[in-house]
This record gives sequence, structure tokens and C-alpha cells, in this order.
Amino acid sequence: MTNKTIPVTQPFLPELSEFVPYLEQIWDNRWLTNNGPFHQELEAKLAEYLGVEHVSLFNNATIALITALQAMRIHGEVITTPYSFVATSHSIMWNGLEPVFVDIDPTTFNIDPAKIEAAITPRTTAIMPVHCYSNPCDVEAIQKIADNYGLKVIYDAAHAFGVKYKGESLLKWGDLSILSFHATKVFNTFEGGAIISPDAKTKQRIDRLKNFGIADELTVTAPGINGKMSEINAAFGLVQLKHIDDAMAQRQAVDSRYRRELAEVTGITLYQHDINANSNFSYFPILVEAEYPLSRDELYEKLKANGILSRRYFYPIISNMPMYRGVASADTAHLPLANALAEKVLCLPIFNELTVEQQQQVIALIKGN
Ligand SMILES: *Cc1c(COP(=O)(O)O)cnc(C)c1O
Repeated sequence: MTNKTIPVTQPFLPELSEFVPYLEQIWDNRWLTNNGPFHQELEAKLAEYLGVEHVSLFNNATIALITALQAMRIHGEVITTPYSFVATSHSIMWNGLEPVFVDIDPTTFNIDPAKIEAAITPRTTAIMPVHCYSNPCDVEAIQKIADNYGLKVIYDAAHAFGVKYKGESLLKWGDLSILSFHATKVFNTFEGGAIISPDAKTKQRIDRLKNFGIADELTVTAPGINGKMSEINAAFGLVQLKHIDDAMAQRQAVDSRYRRELAEVTGITLYQHDINANSNFSYFPILVEAEYPLSRDELYEKLKANGILSRRYFYPIISNMPMYRGVASADTAHLPLANALAEKVLCLPIFNELTVEQQQQVIALIKGN
């Protein structure tokens, strides 16, 4: 037993002293929000770091998802995955659109492209897949379907910061990709998010939409929202960005240690990273199978009783939440694989400051010691 609880994730915070000069600069120039200097700098630095051209910062990813659907003028039905955080489907609902759930691929945990076509109706206008745990969706297959049916593809890439697929940013796929910089994510600005656009014109439309639809001093061209990131959040992002590679390397060490130690445990299945992509090691999901001596929930409780927090993520899946029960495609019989996965999955603690000793405690408990 430890006397200090081990969280499932912990935000990565650089030294406070590194942040102070940025705060002093904000105090000096009195520019607090509305595309200030740190905001502009972070957009430029992120574009460079991520290997994309057009980044629009947001106050969070949920508002960014809602705005992305607006920007693409989506109407009718949107095909999406039930195996995600509720914000994915909520953004569809907030636009007055209908989510249509399609089951997942049991190895990638992402929407199964082979099941998308059967869900397309004359009212379908978009697909909103999620790169779950930073593993890329089958982007080629999804794009092919979208092209065949004239659909937009908006990726919820909240987990996919810094992921390269076949040597290029994964965020270049689809019409738009949305990142989250929430405190629990690999790269954080306390709260924050971004939309990656393919061209300057789309970025300009998104930048207007996140600023009330204001085109210039006298003209408002769309019913926009307030999705702006403040200078404090942007400044923190700049500090964080300086350390992101180190933080990810530390996470990678945690990931590797779990893989080494848990590979042979009967009844525990490890999740495999896509060989065509680099992971950002944002999550470490394990599957607790029937052969394991404890049920998933029993293992969760056992860890908790020993001061270790794991997370049943994603459970319950979106389609099982009360407000989605009425959606025809939310029927469990229609989504057997997502439902089965949600019963088995457990995300283990992974963050850059997790010590070897702490991790060994987690491993020992899972091994039954
Ligand atoms: C975190 C998350 C979101 C929401 O991001 P916020 O920045 O907290 O609004 C959306 N989708 C997925 C898949 C997420 O994990």
C-alpha cells in the first residue's frame, strides 16, 4: 500500500518559473485575448511542429468540433463511432444533426469502414471518426467512401496530437481535424483545442466562426460562436511545446515497460500501435479477458483499493448514454463489438512523471502479486 494515490493521468507541467516571463509580457502589453501575439505565435509553432499548414486555436475541442460541423455546412445525418468521449456525438447534436452510430474494428478500436456504407442514407452528409488512443483510423478507406458518396470527413483527433501516419501528419486527412489540449491530453493548454484546415480560405472561415462570425469592424457574416483561446492559455502552450518531445519520450518508456511486463499475463490483451504511425503514448488500454482471474471491474476495484486509479475509458459507450438511447443506431445489437470492448477495457496510469516504482506496483497488482 502506498499512501499517495496514483492517478490515471497527470498533466505535464513545466517549471512555473518558465511561465512567469510570459505572464509578465501579457501584463506589460495588456493584450489578453482576441488573436494576441502568443496566440499567433502558438498557431505558427504548432503548424510547424505538427507538420500542417493551417491551425486555428480554440478554447476547447468541443467548441471546435461544433464549429467544424458549422464550417462544413453539415446537415442531416452524421456517421460516427459510439466508442469515444461523449463530446464527439454531442457536437453533432448541438448542430441539430442526427448521429448515426457504426460499429468499430476490434483491433484498431476505430470506426469500421466496412460498415459505413450500410449506414449511408440520402440524408447523410458527413462522417465523424475518432483516432482512438492516437491510433489512426483507416483513413484511406474512409476517404474512398466519402469521395464515392460526396460526404465530408471531420476527424475528432482529440487523441492524435503529433501523430504521423506513413511519414506525414495524420491531421492532413479528411476535410478537417480537431485536436484537444485539455489538461488530460498529451499536450495541454489547461483548456484548449484546435482545428486543422487544408487551406487558408477554410481557416479564415473557421477563424471568423470562432469570433462571433465577425468579418471586419462593421460586418458579421455568420452566426458564429466565442471559441477563442486566451493569451494565458496560448502562452502556456508555447512553454509546453518546448518540452513535449521529452514528455512523450517519458511516456514511451512507461508504455514499453507495461508491454514488457504484461505481455505474458494470462487473460490480459495489450493494445497494439499501428505500425504505419508513431503513437503519442497518450493512453495505455488493456483488455481484461474472460481467462483473467478477475473481471474488469474487480481489477479496477482492486487497483483502486491499493491507491491506483485506472479508468474504464470508454465505458459506458456513447450509444448507451440515456440521451442517445432513442437513436435507432444506438441499439446494442447493432454495435456488438463496441459494446464488448467497453466491457473489457481498462486504461492504466500513464503520464510523464509516473515513477518506475509506482508503475511496478501497478504491474505487480495486475500480475496477481
Ligand atoms: C477530450 C476529448 C474531447 C473533448 O475535448 P475538450 O477539449 O475537453 O472539449 C473530444 N473528443 C475526444 C475523443 C476526447 O478525448
